This record gives sequence, C-alpha cells and structure tokens, in this order.
Amino acid sequence: MPTFYQLSKESALTQLHSSVTGLTTEAVAIAQTTFGSNTLQAAKQKSKLSILLSQFTDVMIIILLLAAVISFFVGEHTDAYVILAIILGNAWMGYSQEYNAAKSVRLLQEMAPPFAMVLRNNIPGKIEATLIVPGDIILLEAGDIVPADARLLEIHALKTDEASLTGESNAVEKTTDPIDKENLVAGDQQNMVFKGTIVSNGTAKAMVTAIGMQTELGKIAGLLDSADQKTPLQKRLAVFSKQLAIVVVVICAIVFGIGLWRGEPTFQMFLTSLSLAVAALPEALPAVITIALAQGARRMVLQKALMRKLPAVETLGSVTYICSDKTGTLTQNKMTVEKLEALPDKKDLLLDNMLLNNEVRFSVDEGLLGDATETALVKYALDNGHSKEETDKTFPFLAKLPFDSNRMRMSTLYAHDGKWILFVKGAPVKIIEVLSTTYKNEITPWVDKNEAWAKDGMRVLFFAYKLFDEKPENVTAEIEKDLDFLGMTALIDPPREEVINAIKECNTAGIKTVMITGDQALTATAIAIRLGMVAADHQGVKTGADLETLSPEALSEIVTQTSVYARVTPAQKLAIVKTLQTNGEFVAMTGDGVNDAPSLQQADIGVAMGITGTDVSKEAADMILLDDNFTTIVKAILEGRRIYENIRKFILYVLSCNLSEILTIFLAPLLGFAIPLLPIHILWINLVTDGLPGLALVGEPAEKDIMNRPPRNTKESLFAGGIVQRIVLTAAVITIASIFTQWWAVQQGYNLKTQHTMVFTTLCFVQLANALSVRSDTHSILSVGVFTNKAIWGSILLTIGLQLAILYIPWLQTIFKTTALEWKAMSTILIITAASLLCIELLKLLLKKPVRKPG
Ligand code: ATP
Repeated sequence: MPTFYQLSKESALTQLHSSVTGLTTEAVAIAQTTFGSNTLQAAKQKSKLSILLSQFTDVMIIILLLAAVISFFVGEHTDAYVILAIILGNAWMGYSQEYNAAKSVRLLQEMAPPFAMVLRNNIPGKIEATLIVPGDIILLEAGDIVPADARLLEIHALKTDEASLTGESNAVEKTTDPIDKENLVAGDQQNMVFKGTIVSNGTAKAMVTAIGMQTELGKIAGLLDSADQKTPLQKRLAVFSKQLAIVVVVICAIVFGIGLWRGEPTFQMFLTSLSLAVAALPEALPAVITIALAQGARRMVLQKALMRKLPAVETLGSVTYICSDKTGTLTQNKMTVEKLEALPDKKDLLLDNMLLNNEVRFSVDEGLLGDATETALVKYALDNGHSKEETDKTFPFLAKLPFDSNRMRMSTLYAHDGKWILFVKGAPVKIIEVLSTTYKNEITPWVDKNEAWAKDGMRVLFFAYKLFDEKPENVTAEIEKDLDFLGMTALIDPPREEVINAIKECNTAGIKTVMITGDQALTATAIAIRLGMVAADHQGVKTGADLETLSPEALSEIVTQTSVYARVTPAQKLAIVKTLQTNGEFVAMTGDGVNDAPSLQQADIGVAMGITGTDVSKEAADMILLDDNFTTIVKAILEGRRIYENIRKFILYVLSCNLSEILTIFLAPLLGFAIPLLPIHILWINLVTDGLPGLALVGEPAEKDIMNRPPRNTKESLFAGGIVQRIVLTAAVITIASIFTQWWAVQQGYNLKTQHTMVFTTLCFVQLANALSVRSDTHSILSVGVFTNKAIWGSILLTIGLQLAILYIPWLQTIFKTTALEWKAMSTILIITAASLLCIELLKLLLKKPVRKPG
C-alpha cells in the first residue's frame, strides 16, 4: 500500500475520511477511541516502592539496621526496637520528601501542555496537541513545533527545521506534490511534516497521518528519558556531603576511641558513635533543596510564572539584567488603530489591504484569532464597512509571503479584475525601501507624520501594493519591489501601568531593565519614557543599524549604557546577551518569535511568552510568563531570591545543629564528663528536632528588604557571606549550653540518667531557639514578624510537646531512658535556652555584613 507521501492530496484525505474543511465532531470522537492520545510514552517514573526501598540503601542506615540487630541479640530489646522505629521514621521522612519533590517536579512539567491550531467542522480553533487525531487538519505557522506527522496540503514559503529528527541542520523546503518513490526516509518525504520538527518559516495546512508513538519521532524516541534536573546547587552539595562524610567518620572513630579509652562499654560506644554519624550527616539536604525549589516553582505558577527548568528557580535571584520585548510584555498588547491616512482615492484599497493581508483567522466562537497588530487592522477595516466575504470575492487569494522579523514586511497576492495585485504592509523604513522611485521621492511628508505619531508612542505601519499584468511566477520576497504607496496607520498599545512600579523595584534591587524591540526608535523611546525606564529627555536609544557597525569592544561599552534598543534583529539580540554575559552580567531575556530561540537559550534565564509566544520560544525558555507580563518576571525574581535564602537558612540551621551534637559528644568526655547523650537521644534529635523545623524554614516568607539588596553573584559559594563562621559559632553556643547544663547537673549531684535527660532537653530547646533565629539572616528575631511562618511555630510546639511527653510519660521514659526533671532543673534549662538565644542573636548582629547598596 502506498504511504501518504506517495498519495495525491485528495487520495490522502479520502484514505483517512477527512476533507480540507477538517473532521466533523463525530469523526473526531471515533478517531480518539480508535487511535488514542497523541502522546509519546512518558519516561518510566520511579515507583513509590523503589523510592521507599532506596531509603534503605544508605550506608548509614544499613549500619544502623545492623546495630538494631546486634542490640537485639545482646539483649537490649528496647534499644533495638527504638532504633528500628527511628530508622523507619527516617525512611518515611526521606521517602515522603523525595516523593513530594518528584511529584511537584512532574506537576510543573505537565503545566505547559503544547497547543495546536486545528480546523474541525471548518472552524479554526486551538486545542491541546494531545487531542489531535489522524485525519485532523492542522494549521501551522513559523515558530510552531509540528504536533504530529502530517501530509502537506497547502504551503506558503514553508520551511522546516528537522534537525531534531534527521540531524539535517539546514532548513528544509517543502512541496505538496506526491512523490513517486518507494521507501523514502523521513528526511526525503518533502510533502510531509513530522512531529517534533520546527516550522522555521512560512505557513501551512496539513492533514495528520500519524500521532503519538506511531510518528517518526515516536519510533525513534522509544522511552523518553526524563532530563537530569539536578541543579548546580545540588551538584555542589553532593560533593560537599561526600567530603563531610569522611570528616564525620573520622570524628566518630575518635569519639569511639576516646570512649573505649575511658572504659565505656564497647557496644554502647559503638552505638553512640554510629548514631552520631547518622545524626551529623545532612542526608536530607538534596531532597529538601528539591522541595524548596519545586514548592517555590509552584508558588511562582500562582503568580503566573511557569518554570520549565528547576535549576533556573535557584539562579533567578541572581539576575542583574532584564532585557524585555516591548509589545505585549511592557505594553498591554491591546492594539487599536488610532489614526489612518491614505493617498487620495486609495482609502478603500488601503482598507482592503488591512482586511486581507494578514494571518488572522475568523473563528465563529472565538472571534478574530491572531497577532494583536493584525486583528486591530482587520477590526478597523470591518468597522469601516468592509466585509470579509465581499472582499474575498473581489480578491481571490493566491499566495502569501508571511511576516518575518528580519524583513519586517508581509505580502499577499490576489487575482483582481483580470490582473494580479500584491498587498504589502510593514515597518515604515522597510516599505520605503521597496517603493517605486516616484513614491520614494514624495515620501517626506509621510515620514514626518510617522515621526510625529511614533513620538506619541504609537506603532506605525506603512501600506503599499503593486498591480501585475502577468501572473508572477515565483512568489518570493523578490517581487516586493517598485511598489505603489497606499497610506499609513498608527496603532496605540497602552503601556502596562503595573510595569512602572516593577521597574522601580528593579532599580532598588540592583537589576537593570532594558527594552529590546523590533519597533522603531521613536515609538520605543516614547514607551520607555512613560514606563520610567529612561529619563524624559532620553537620547540614548540604539538601533539595529547603529549596532551593525560596532566592533565587539565598542559593543561591550555600548551595552553598559543603553536601556532602549529599537529595530533590533534576533541575531543582534543574541549579540547583546552574549556581550552582557561577557561583561559578567546575569541576563534574563524575553522572546516570542521563532528566531528568538537562540537568545533565549543563551540567556541565563530565557523567558518566553505564554500567550503570544511560539512553541519554539517556549521550548527554548527556562521560564514562561503565563500572562506575558513583565511584572511577572520581577515577581519571579523575588521568589527566586527567597528560595535561595531559605535554602541557605536551612543549611545554616542543620549544619550548626549537627556540628553542635558532634562537639558536645566529642568535648564533654575530654572535659572529664560522662558521654552526655545516649544513642537514642541523638537519633531522636536528628529525626525530630532537626527535621521538622528545618523543613518549615523552607516555607519562610521573603524578608521585607529582599528586593533592596543587590543580586547575588552566581559564582559565589553557598558558604559565602560569613555563613561558615555563623555555623561554627552557633554550634559553639549550643555546645557550651549543653556542656554547661551537664556541669550544672553534676554540681547538683544529679545521677547520670538525669544528666542525660537534661543535656538531651537543652540540646532540643536551644536548637529550636536556633531555628527561630535562623529565620532571618540579618534581622533580629522580633523584627521578622513573629507569626509570619506558622509552620515553624507548629513544628516547634509539636517538638516541645513530644519532648515533654518523653520526659514525663512513664512508658516513654522507659523507652527513651529519661527521667522526669524537677522544676529547678527545667527552669535552669529554660534560662540556658534564653541565654543561648540571646548569644545567637548577638552573633547575628556582630557578623552582619554592612548591607551593600545596589550599585
Ligand atoms: P517587540 O520586539 O517589542 O515584541 P515588535 O512586535 O515591534 O516588538 P516585531 O514583531 O519583530 O517586533 O516587529 C517588527 C516591526 O515589523 C514592527 O515594529 C512593525 O513595524 C512590523 N510588523 C509587525 N508585525 C507585522 C505584521 N504582521 N505585518 C507587517 N509588519 C509587521
């Protein structure tokens, strides 16, 4: 049986019971049950069981398990059960953290489903690409990722990029004619388009021939591997954890040695040093970081910023430059034609041009679909008495040269009155370039008018046409020459009011904002002034033409001074990002078109538009603005800063607590005291005291002045900014508190059990106090807003409750080898806790770095 590329368009349509007007609703329903959904088989996800089992593969846990078994056999049954319970508790915590992290990441990935434009019942509409069925008629345009394999029916200047499928890096030209050859590989089937390839130019109409795993992509993709989402931070921490593990093992060995030398029972010492090792290693770190990032990313979605790559969540806070498009991002993308001027007697032809020369689709239920500029033009023509049906009859459509951001023009060709007519519209300079000499010579008044309108922030378009006596053979950009002028329009696209404040916020946060637009210099400057990006008398706008002549060194200088770029091509956008990056900047860059993908990929944070952006730009981006709004980038940066700070707080908390446990157990015997904690106490502190408040720290709200600080350098180590000092000194405070408690207990003549109980409780309470203090890096505990993080208070109260239960409920006393503390002992612990908190807060004050004002 011939395959689709060998069939004529008509036979291809018949074979799948389709037609050029698309499938009917009934046919779609049948096809959906027959063929299923247009999805590639997802990567194998780690099952719940394997996540759970992987918790037990940790070396430390295995040793602990062994310890439980040994305890059991030497007759320490309670110890064995408690260790077992704690291992299970640990495993459950690890499991739920890892599972939740994976789930959040998955949810994020599912949040930006690709859409496709299909024609069904002769009505165009946007649907989720997974719902496409064989026989569907799809409408493609530049920037789309082809949603399924399809036979081309109609093409206009179509070129595709099939590198993802065939490795061919040049754009492929397409045809709609059948090909009479057998067994052609996908790359040679020129009348077909394939799932996952990119429409790099032009537009097309095609019939879907295969979906999901039946597509060429599906055949080679097999099982998709989910990409490695490890963030730079996680990678660095993995290395750090390994180094830490070695240090911890050495220390624990020393503790073990000292114990034996002091004559402690061997088994007891073995358990103690083992528990210490388990407690000292921050095994929860990687999972907590994923949780912090994924939770942050979910909060960002609520604010309309969809993060496509987890590492970007972590680095967002470091952005020093935001380079933004104008149209739709800084402005509302609500275009209306404000002014129109035509040559005498040409107004009707101008309106015909406005009505016809575009990609606008007339949908029954959704109104006019398409680019805001074009729908505004169409609407104006309709409102001024031109009807689509009539005009289509007078001007039967023949061919189209779609808009592209390098040419900045668009043309369409029609049969008309026994002749042929080409309608052209575009950026003023780009139209003047192709006018006939007569019109070029008379263009000055129109150019003046353009300037006047552009100064008011309006987008100006020029319109032209050409009549042909002979039908043009090849409809390429070559025929856009010697045109007759028609007239001009100005469209208003009001700036987004909320952007004004967002730009102010960027200024205080040390982030430079830059406008890079395809629009002309005057319009761009006018809008930039209104948004407060530049001063009212701003002269510094640079155009694509200015940049063209610059040496790399000169460009490197120019980018430091320029806030508005106009008439910039995608290639120049890329050059601007690269230059800024060489200057050491961390750049977020927006883009929407097919040609923007390279700059989005190059930018540290590539930002695509959710509403108007092309598939290709979204695919290349790290972040998608669901509302296309500049303000959303700024909100996301704030969230990014918050997440990073919280991770730092978590690390500060966990490492200072862990270190204090090691120091306490290490130093107390050296100072002549008994080993101050039993293994169970250590394990308990690790599980509950460190775990619960630590986790709550991740949800800490952003500090009030977070956007008054300069961006963090991405190369800066996680441990920069005095955090190591703080870990060590805080640990020292906690250690002193514990050892002091033990000294006091000895002075009171308390027995060993009471000493253990007291040190255990002090360590627990002081660590909780530490959790409260860690909530802010710079501000005192009182000025943070005491109840702004309910989770942390919840976890603290819960931990205190559990601790009291362990101390005062008899059967728990037996298990945890504690004893009820009398009021004198308890109040001493409380005083020690308060004093320690004061010391830790004082440390914060002393170690606080002078706040660097953003420069
Ligand atoms: P931004 O880059 O800020 O989104 P932009 O929309 O002006 O701005 P482009 O889409 O590259 O950037 O457009 C560049 C210029 O091309 C516009 O200023 C306009 O003069 C012209 N233009 C835009 N859309 C069309 C179109 N559909 N047909 C003809 N010309 C157009």
